Amino acid sequence: MPINLSNSYRDLGESFSQQILPDPVAQPSLLLWNEALAQTLGLTFDSTDNKENDADLLAQYFSGNRLMEDSKPIAQAYSGHQFGQFNPQLGDGRAHLLGDIADEQGQRWDIQLKGSGVSQFSRSGDGRCALGPALREYIMSEAMFALGVPTTRCLAVVTTGQSVYRDRPFAGAIVTRVATSHIRVGTFQYFAARGDTESLKKLTNYSIKRHFPELLAESAVESSKATDDNEISSEQVLNFFSAVLSKQIPLVLSWLRVGFIHGVMNTDNTAISGETIDYGPCAMMNAYHWETVFSSIDRNSRYAFGKQISIMQWNMTRLAETLLPLIDSDEDAAVAQLQPLLSQFHQDFEENYLKMMAVKIGIDEPEQGDGKLISELIAIMQKNSLDYTKTFTALTDALTDSLNGNAIEGPLLNLLGEWLPRWQIRIAGFKAAAHELMVSNNPVVIPRNHDVEAILATSQASYQEKGDLTALYEFLAVLRQPYTVLDNTKNYQNSPADGDENYHTFCGT
Ligand code: AMP
Ligand code: MG
Repeated sequence: MPINLSNSYRDLGESFSQQILPDPVAQPSLLLWNEALAQTLGLTFDSTDNKENDADLLAQYFSGNRLMEDSKPIAQAYSGHQFGQFNPQLGDGRAHLLGDIADEQGQRWDIQLKGSGVSQFSRSGDGRCALGPALREYIMSEAMFALGVPTTRCLAVVTTGQSVYRDRPFAGAIVTRVATSHIRVGTFQYFAARGDTESLKKLTNYSIKRHFPELLAESAVESSKATDDNEISSEQVLNFFSAVLSKQIPLVLSWLRVGFIHGVMNTDNTAISGETIDYGPCAMMNAYHWETVFSSIDRNSRYAFGKQISIMQWNMTRLAETLLPLIDSDEDAAVAQLQPLLSQFHQDFEENYLKMMAVKIGIDEPEQGDGKLISELIAIMQKNSLDYTKTFTALTDALTDSLNGNAIEGPLLNLLGEWLPRWQIRIAGFKAAAHELMVSNNPVVIPRNHDVEAILATSQASYQEKGDLTALYEFLAVLRQPYTVLDNTKNYQNSPADGDENYHTFCGT
């Protein structure tokens, strides 16, 4: 069946991307294929005409050795603030956007290969990806998707049969990433830094069409300009900015809900779609501490767990700066229009943070005093290094059976002390509803760092020896149902024995 691939981003013009083919690899071999995702996308590869079995055909397509019909690959240009420092020239240094396809609902998805060779944006990089990080992205993004976190996903991991050199040789791989788009804050910064207002207008119009078509419908009634890619009204830009802001709140709050630390929230890793992108140095928090950081290059703890809201606000302010010339030629006047949206964004974050945490303790509509209840629980967790996930599952479990909250015992009972009866009184009138809310918002399992690393080690060793990914599949099966206790769930619920004291993640994927 032909794949209905468009190259809509390439069509924006030469300033947006480099036209470049993936660099073929020696021995592509399909390691992981996300059939559920393929079905969502309506992707089927009929091999009957090809005299090849499916796995071989998929390995050809998702290594870049063979192109899908209509695919015109590009490397996208973007800039970005990396750890606060602006770098005007980043871009896809080891990724190829093959094109975008529409699913049955009409939603368009980018299909991107990562690790598929160099481009003009590679700088000193080799354009490649090692197998470990490719598998890690697959596991983490699948886990996040199942946790209900907006995220890019992985369609395939293909090994290349070639070595990738980091501090030593590793098996090479190509991961196929699927996203509603790969437009980043850094994409806007790329054109703003060059004073290319025409391209900024085009990019904004494209982004609206791609992500917020409802805005297009509104403005089409008001102005005929909306259909011209080179024109955009200030009102449209403001609406677009608001829409982007509204996507970032559920994103970061769901990270905070499940204990996710992105690790490298540079503006080039912040998608305007509000999807989690770039799983390089991410990690999960075990013991609660708002300053938790695992990334080895985040020396100033810029991207610590508890700073993620303020970093997203910082990143959105950078996006706002790029939009100024589209709003008013007088910069002060443009700032005056954007500023209220940013202030509202700060306020919305605060309010929604409270709501998100309230839900974790079973409260649907927070009232006065609930903020204090929540911050006291957080203080207890932080002071006593309590496991974030386990604390909430213990509270949830306390409401099962008798629904009387007495099931908490042992050390946790003592540590919660006076907090526990206060919480019990607060939810006394709606325990069953509170329980239901807690079950669906507090995962029983998350992809804990030590489990992920152990699975990566065994999968790579076993793959090189005999192609056995049993342990990986078992882990994925549990991670795909993070709100349900399955037979194997208990194997992945333990906090690390050493509290992840010496755990470090790396960017160099
Ligand atoms: P990241 O840290 O993954 O967000 O990447 C930052 C920038 O470095 C992006 O422009 C990437 O395309 C580029 N990059 C990362 N790794 C490589 C590599 N192995 N080869 C070429 N470019 C790379
Ligand atoms: Mg990146």
